[in-house]
Amino acid sequence: MPRSDHRSRPGQGSDPNQEISLSGPDITDQEIDAVVEVMRSGRLSMGPTQEVFEGLVAEAAGCDHGVAVNSGTSGLHLALLALGIGPGDEVITTPFSFVASANAILYVGATPKFVDICPRSLNMDPDRVEAAIGPRTKAILAVEALGNPTHMDRYAAIAAKHEIHLIEDCCEALGTEYKGRKCGSFGRVGVFGFYPNKQITTGEGGMIVTDDARLADLCRSLRNQGRPMPSELSDSASLGMWLSHERLGYNYRLSDIACAIGVAQMRRFEDIMEARRSVAVEYLDRLMGMPGIILPTIESGTSMSWFVFTVRLERGYTAEERDRVIQGLRNHDIGAAAYFPCIHLMPEYIRRFGYEPGTFPIAESVSDRTIALPFHNRITPRDIDLVAQTLSLMLTRENLARG
Ligand SMILES: *Cc1c(COP(=O)(O)O)cnc(C)c1O
Repeated sequence: MPRSDHRSRPGQGSDPNQEISLSGPDITDQEIDAVVEVMRSGRLSMGPTQEVFEGLVAEAAGCDHGVAVNSGTSGLHLALLALGIGPGDEVITTPFSFVASANAILYVGATPKFVDICPRSLNMDPDRVEAAIGPRTKAILAVEALGNPTHMDRYAAIAAKHEIHLIEDCCEALGTEYKGRKCGSFGRVGVFGFYPNKQITTGEGGMIVTDDARLADLCRSLRNQGRPMPSELSDSASLGMWLSHERLGYNYRLSDIACAIGVAQMRRFEDIMEARRSVAVEYLDRLMGMPGIILPTIESGTSMSWFVFTVRLERGYTAEERDRVIQGLRNHDIGAAAYFPCIHLMPEYIRRFGYEPGTFPIAESVSDRTIALPFHNRITPRDIDLVAQTLSLMLTRENLARG
């Protein structure tokens, strides 16, 4: 195996005949060496690397504590449990997100109360959030949809005013800052995810962040089979207590092997973000003024770390036309996807709650017209040019088909 930088890998832009993939992790020898080091150490889980990783992510999120877990989804589950949210409670959330943000609410037996989004930020309309608060509302679970942090400060103010929790599903916003505040620090608790399409990856993994030491300890207990928190251990009892289980816990632990990847990624974090930003800027420059599409709206005061790069087809384009554009891009070996289908119209949600199309018209209209384009650190300006040309061709084809 070459010991040089693993920068040229299959499917990543160097060969014009190879596909331009939708996403891809930025893995170098540093991550590979870090994994090997942990493998040789013999401590494969709950070892010293976990603590280092927790500290690095908490710092990047402007929080005091980090609790590593095995996915963003399990992090959301534990955050809701640790806040005591359960059956009979309502949690206000967005229908325009990855399904995990609402599923976590179902896991604890609470009810998601969806509110429609604002068509510019694509995040929940703050006025609708406030109007949706009722006697059973225990929390707002807010998402930086497609990485955009707009309104996070408003949600925090609304939550404080009504004395309910703000849970920040910041899985798409590690490294993003908004109005001088780091994403992850807006809520009582924030949750990151490290699947390979996120800003940094551990293969699979997640992190709960908070300033609340007790909440962090409770999450640590819940992630590890309900083992006692430090405050529950008396000095003399601590040995025997290891096998005592104080509460119903889970195995949501993240291995030290995964944490080693995370530590290496966090040590390169500035470089990784810089690379993402330059790809995004390249896309914005190249696509600016292209007829038929709307580019992402980034409010001033936002420093984006860029999770994905999406464009929206203009009003009037249908979901069928959008799907044909995506298929057309894929036929040209360009990765593209419809981010995100609305959560309330997923079969499980229709079965449980009987939602019908038209319930959240803005989210549905945006969702029907959005296309995620290839976005990762290996994309070259030539790739972007090819994506732009092909997108333009597909839109022309749709316009001709309309006659
Ligand atoms: C990725 C993501 C998650 C879940 O992350 P996993 O690590 O895949 O469980 C949750 N919410 C949002 C908004 C996400 O983008």
